Amino acid sequence: MQIQEHTAAQIQATVEAAARISDDWARSSAQTRAEFLRGLGDVLVDNRQELVRLADEESALGAVRLNAELDRTTFQLGAFADHIETGNAFALTDDEAIAGAPPVGRPRLTRVRVPLGPVAMFSASNFPLAFSVLGGDTASALAAGCPVVVKAHPGHPRLSRRVFELAQSVLAKQSLPQAVMGFVEGASVDVGVALVRNPDIAAVAFTGSFKGGKALWAEANSRPRPIPFYAELGSINPVVALPAALSAQAEELAQALAASIEFGSGQICTSPGVVVLIEGADADRFENALCDALQTRKTHTMLTPGVKRNFDAGVARLTRAPGVQTVLGAEQDSDDNAPPRPLLARTSAANFIADPTLREEVFGPACLVVRVKSADEIVNVLNAVGGSLTVTLWGAENDSADVRRITRCATQIAGRVLFSGVPTGVAVARSQQHGGPWPTSTEPFTTSVGYAAMDRFLRPVALQSAPAWLAELGGRPC
Ligand code: NAP
Repeated sequence: MQIQEHTAAQIQATVEAAARISDDWARSSAQTRAEFLRGLGDVLVDNRQELVRLADEESALGAVRLNAELDRTTFQLGAFADHIETGNAFALTDDEAIAGAPPVGRPRLTRVRVPLGPVAMFSASNFPLAFSVLGGDTASALAAGCPVVVKAHPGHPRLSRRVFELAQSVLAKQSLPQAVMGFVEGASVDVGVALVRNPDIAAVAFTGSFKGGKALWAEANSRPRPIPFYAELGSINPVVALPAALSAQAEELAQALAASIEFGSGQICTSPGVVVLIEGADADRFENALCDALQTRKTHTMLTPGVKRNFDAGVARLTRAPGVQTVLGAEQDSDDNAPPRPLLARTSAANFIADPTLREEVFGPACLVVRVKSADEIVNVLNAVGGSLTVTLWGAENDSADVRRITRCATQIAGRVLFSGVPTGVAVARSQQHGGPWPTSTEPFTTSVGYAAMDRFLRPVALQSAPAWLAELGGRPC
């Protein structure tokens, strides 16, 4: 289907409408917002069959995965509804006045949080439901009291339009202003750029590639008044398999890792792109088992022809790089609709550290084994990665100086550190942190998954000696 190219005037009108109702939405009750979020979840469930079919036609991700993604999207919407209803919509901290001279004496201070205003939300290609029109960014911004203007992803235009239509039907049914959610689309980058430049846009939530996110981040920062730009970008998610884990369960871990690499044809931001092994017989055994397991996995067509071409280019770059040996998958089928073949390659720590191109995300089922000789080299490899959504440490159960050093390093470079399991799969919870240091995220102090995602759209304000009428609002904007 043809992607509609919204004009500058249409984008302007959509954002202006959002700005007009912004104060009203900021002042809306937690119950109003919660009902709206639940209504959105319900309408997704009610139209499950149609939405999953559309999503499958446009993404090739398959009904099983897409049904699970729809469940997750509904869960997120409901979770934010619960979160704001249980006192978190207008959470505040209050310091009573203390008589006397400073520093002990002070006026009464109440720290409240005000919604930023209209949020531009860029959908991702690889989560047509959970990181798209009604995905986590939209849910958290609406819960915070911000209207949302969605930039649809050109990879799934029909699905995006349909989900937006359904959202509009919920707004109408609940007698809420239609402009609480706006929608723009276009096949060129101009639409997204115009949205980010619009003076009424107060913040941007972006999920997508490093290249796209960096370009739009620069736009947000070069506005006369720069705005917060929350981008969740690509990641290579190192998995460190320490000897204690490999000696005990090399085969099982290899199976689990192969499934994680292959999941969604590798088109997942938390896909494990690097595995770090200490040289030795167990490392050989693990690598052989991983190679065998990957050969038995079945991938599916990639999201778009462009994603497949980028994957093929990434495979060529990796396999032709000096000091890299291909274990599996160097030859790819050049047909854009052909499923990608899992790539497994190997290099040394020194090579990985020296060549920055080996640390670029290859979006698809690709994994680079980095062979190291010591705990020092593990730390050096992780430091070379610099920023990642996740680091997985297998075999860290027993405390030792080396295990502590590697763990410390992992926490310095990643938003989430796993001590068992695989990095694909991100639970929606209070303690979740999805976002790590650059180049994974532009705002590593924030998360795009979990309840804390709402904090991105709320700016703290200290009210000093607030009059009674204002204090009585209990943090709700006036
Ligand atoms: P993408 O190509 O960057 O697209 C994301 C959005 O950005 C699209 O709406 C795209 O619109 C727009 N865009 C891209 N470049 C632009 C530019 N220069 N100027 C203006 N707009 C631009 O990424 P994707 O294909 O959706 O997703 C794949 C990437 O997302 C992978 O790297 C993956 O790791 C990452 N990802 C990260 C997370 C996370 O949570 N960290 C989650 C999912 C995916 P146009 O196509 O119209 O330009």
